Amino acid sequence: MANSGLRGSYPLTNESIKEYVSRTSAGAYALGYVKDNSFYVGYVGRSDNDVAARLHSHIGRYKRFKYEYYGSAKAAFEKECRIYHDFSPGGNKVHPDRPNGSGWKCPVCNIFQ
Ligand SMILES: [Zn+2]
Repeated sequence: MANSGLRGSYPLTNESIKEYVSRTSAGAYALGYVKDNSFYVGYVGRSDNDVAARLHSHIGRYKRFKYEYYGSAKAAFEKECRIYHDFSPGGNKVHPDRPNGSGWKCPVCNIFQ
C-alpha cells in the first residue's frame, strides 16, 4: 500500500486529538484502522483552517487518524487529492471539493478542468 505521508496514526478520541493536534492550522487527514501494523485508509479529508476541529467531528466513525499541518488551505487540498487518488478510500463517495471560486486544480486528475 502507498505511504500517506501523514503523521500518526493516533486513536480518534478527544484526548488524543487534544494531545497530538495542538496547533490551529489548515491540514489534511486520513481516518481508518490498523491491522497487522498497516494503516488502512477509510476516509480522507481536510480543513482549510482548523484540522483539529474537523477531526473532532469524526469521533466514533473511525478508530484511528493520521494528519499533517499545511501552511495553506491549497496545500491541504492538494494533499487530500493525492491521498484520495492513491488510496481510493471507501468513505469518500465523490472527489474532494474545492472552495467556490478558488480555481484550484487537482494535482492528479482533470476533474476541475
Ligand atoms: Zn483528482
